[in-house]
Amino acid sequence: MPSAIVIGGGLAGLASAAALGQAGFQVDLFEARAFLGGRATSYPVPGDTSEVIDNCQHVLLRCCVNVMNFYGRLGVADRIQFHKRFYFIEPGGRTSILEAGVLPAPLHFTGSFRKLAFLGLADKIGIARALLAIRSERGRRQDLDRISMLDWLREKRQTERAIGRFWNQILVSAVNEDLDRMAASHGFQVFWLGFLARANTYEMGIPAVPLGDLYGPDAWRHIGNVRLHLRKPVEQVITEDGAIRGVMAGGERHTADYYVSALPFERVPALLPELQLDLESFEHSPITGIHLWFDRSLTQLPHATLLDRTIQWMFNKSGGRYLQLVVSASRSLVDMPRAEVIALAVRELTEFLPRARDAKIEKAHVVKEIRATFSARAGLEQARPVSTTKFGNFFLAGDWTRSGWPATMEGAVRSGYLSAEAVARAAGQEQKFLLPDVA
Ligand SMILES: Cc1cc2nc3c(=O)[nH]c(=O)nc-3n(C[C@H](O)[C@H](O)[C@H](O)COP(=O)(O)OP(=O)(O)OC[C@H]3O[C@@H](n4cnc5c(N)ncnc54)[C@H](O)[C@@H]3O)c2cc1C
Repeated sequence: MPSAIVIGGGLAGLASAAALGQAGFQVDLFEARAFLGGRATSYPVPGDTSEVIDNCQHVLLRCCVNVMNFYGRLGVADRIQFHKRFYFIEPGGRTSILEAGVLPAPLHFTGSFRKLAFLGLADKIGIARALLAIRSERGRRQDLDRISMLDWLREKRQTERAIGRFWNQILVSAVNEDLDRMAASHGFQVFWLGFLARANTYEMGIPAVPLGDLYGPDAWRHIGNVRLHLRKPVEQVITEDGAIRGVMAGGERHTADYYVSALPFERVPALLPELQLDLESFEHSPITGIHLWFDRSLTQLPHATLLDRTIQWMFNKSGGRYLQLVVSASRSLVDMPRAEVIALAVRELTEFLPRARDAKIEKAHVVKEIRATFSARAGLEQARPVSTTKFGNFFLAGDWTRSGWPATMEGAVRSGYLSAEAVARAAGQEQKFLLPDVA
């Protein structure tokens, strides 16, 4: 049985390990922390071990076919609940719903889009024109990796309101970058795969359990041949004669036929400087999650996107009393003291949810993920490395590698599957793990 060592137990490493384990490899996965999931994980609230929270609400769209395939491998795909309605709330509380109607794609949103109260007629006509342009320019235009999404939207003469309330609202959360930095190719991909290609691929999947439960020990019983080593950071990758000969973890040397690094980009050079990765073009983009527990229910909506303010999304985690708020590309909050972040969040919430005015906060917790994702900015795509390296038995995975997607769970799982395919190829097997995009 060929063997593989996977370094890192985030989604990329887990997907790589699951695919290789099921393909008959003996896999040893080393994870530095005491739990799996990396940046998509859960843990007890500091100071209150009775409550387990996700580091931040993670959502996927139905077009994330590889994440769902990975959950299927672990036998947990049924723990993802799909929502067919997107709620947009304006300051003042007026709520609009975007959902698919009876018409086939790409006309499936026609009915609800016409009724969106937060956009005017000129905004909507402009958006419809731009969506048509995405269909026709996709795959034909060569500069989409090099220009920003904002450049493209300006080229398509979008109104300020359409940019702020529609494009910005959907894309900044999906790609975790501002429109003036984000490569237009990512904006195209989100709208093409999620909103145009099929009538149901926009549906939003939200885990019904804490993220960490998706990759718990039970799940791994479905996968043969994978040994998980938690609290075992890899300290060094050992090279000899132009090949990888082992890793040092916990002071011991571990060896295998093949090695997969599924680490964040900033961690790789220290472990294996010989790779000489050119990471100059990579920078981080932060995400802030604000968890608020109130003394009463503030809303019955399962989630909503909040317009024109700092807070972009609200998720109802428990009966309208525990709300999780998310700010993507949250540079403005990075240096703000936590108490001020909470005060800002509550102030903004009262504009959207009138019941927040009289409610009291019982508990609050702010998670600032400064290194949440790489910045998917224009010009970066060429710098993202593929899974094979100059070492024939060493492979790269991670959301930052060239997965074809921005830094998302889907991007991470895709990179894991691509690395597993490369390992199998090196072992003389032709295996296909990666599922193609829906269109
Ligand atoms: C706050 C936040 C919100 C997000 N929201 C969404 C969302 O809604 N939808 C979505 O699709 N994506 C979202 N993302 C992005 C998504 O979480 C990431 O793209 C994805 O989880 C990255 O997975 P990864 O395996 O590439 O990296 P990581 O998850 O970073 O995994 C790397 C792992 O390596 C481990 N490690 C580090 N050093 C060592 C070592 N020396 N030895 C062994 N192990 C080591 C780390 O502990 C970690 O577990 C969000 C990210 C954040 C931070």
